[in-house]
Amino acid sequence: MVEEIVQKVKDAGVVGAGGAGFPTHVKIAAQVDTVIANGAECDPLLRCDQQLMANRAPEVIEGLRLVMQASGAERGVIALKREYTSAVAALQSNIQYPIPNTQRPPQSPQSWGEGGHVSLHLLESHYPAGDEFVLVYEVTGRLVPETGLPLHVGCIVQNVGTLFNIARAQRGIPVTHRLLTVTGAVHEPKTLNLPIGTSIGEAVAWAGGIKIPRWTTRTEEDYAVVVGGPMMGRLAQDLSDPITKTTTGLIVLPRDNVVVRYLGRPLGSWVKRGRSTCDQCRDCTDLCPRYLLGHDLEPHKVMRSINYGLTEPTAIMTAAVLCCECRLCEAYACPLELSPMAYYREIKRQLAAPPSSPPTLGGKEGGQWKNVVHKRSDLMPHAMREYRRVPMERLVARLGLSEYQECTCPLDEREYQPRRVTIPLKQHTGVPAQPVIKVGDRVQRGDLIAQIPEGKLGANVHASISGKVEAVTGEDVVIGT
Ligand code: SF4
Ligand code: SF4
Repeated sequence: MVEEIVQKVKDAGVVGAGGAGFPTHVKIAAQVDTVIANGAECDPLLRCDQQLMANRAPEVIEGLRLVMQASGAERGVIALKREYTSAVAALQSNIQYPIPNTQRPPQSPQSWGEGGHVSLHLLESHYPAGDEFVLVYEVTGRLVPETGLPLHVGCIVQNVGTLFNIARAQRGIPVTHRLLTVTGAVHEPKTLNLPIGTSIGEAVAWAGGIKIPRWTTRTEEDYAVVVGGPMMGRLAQDLSDPITKTTTGLIVLPRDNVVVRYLGRPLGSWVKRGRSTCDQCRDCTDLCPRYLLGHDLEPHKVMRSINYGLTEPTAIMTAAVLCCECRLCEAYACPLELSPMAYYREIKRQLAAPPSSPPTLGGKEGGQWKNVVHKRSDLMPHAMREYRRVPMERLVARLGLSEYQECTCPLDEREYQPRRVTIPLKQHTGVPAQPVIKVGDRVQRGDLIAQIPEGKLGANVHASISGKVEAVTGEDVVIGT
């Protein structure tokens, strides 16, 4: 049974839907005692997980129970924010039933279905509530070691969208569509279920297109699209780029919004600003969620080191590997609009780069550095952690997003039929999938079009619409109707 669950998940091409894209069949094969369904959806304005839990609660719970079976876990916890009232109600009314396909009658609360007990854990509205290390601590009180995994403390964390796809995989349904929020400055902010490979521009148009206030002289050129959330996302470079298995949302914002300004600022600009203005107030450290969990991560010190021209990969610099890139230091904590995260991101890139790569900040031993320092497991959360968590409302205000925050982005159940999709072969951690079709072939929605190379980490890719294969490149497959 366990092997069957894992194989079906592998066949269906399920990957982490929260953004990371790690192949799910690898993750759920581990043995743990607790599976946490991550429904925190902590990035502002995103609503796809909330809408999924409110509208597809039975499948989310079924997916959770299947992962509990596969991993031997006795406890399943769905963690979501208390304020997601529709999702909480839907989950509560569905939680007492066992896995539908087992055909067993509902059981008593003491033995809720095969795979153990499932419950809800209601979170307050803080950022970043969905960070895996933060979530494991909030739900279980366990502290994931530095550079460790939830697995090291007996937990698997799966995004609720991934659990939904796991449940469908058991019925032989592959991942062909993506639930995503399209919001911000659009006429009809909503949550859409789109074929993978649909273009960003089409998705924005399906949400009514860019909404420009009548009293401004702005044009569409004055707006940018953020792919993902305003904290963890990136700016879209090209509106013809495709929606992938990990696209959580599209947020249309005026180019003068602080989120767009921050996401568009290059490293050189961040370094120049940091060198001239960092006053070592250490607000970035005091609010850093990993520092507050007891990790040896003090972003104000990396600012000091680099600003004074230090280039050796000291523990202060290599602590970059502890940064989860939540962007809180940059977008909220620093009063001077500086970004320790940009420094950490560049140091991580250098540490992983081939030795011949030229350094830009330090970390001269790129490609040769081995982490033997940042592995502490004797962690103690900061005594003030409880009082330093960042309320979502204040973060939203700081980001200039308050006017969009109230929208629930209801789920649009209509089927969108694009005339053409461009499906990337690499939408996941690992190597690209290898095409198994050729130009001119006719495919049906759900057909396998590219598969994991033998013995490699990756995920299968399937046709998201029925049609004819128009192009196969090293990067994607184009299907037209
Ligand atoms: S919060 Fe900003 S000014 Fe203060 S130490 Fe950090 S980077 Fe420097
Ligand atoms: S992005 Fe900043 S606040 Fe977030 S973990 Fe990294 S250093 Fe800490």
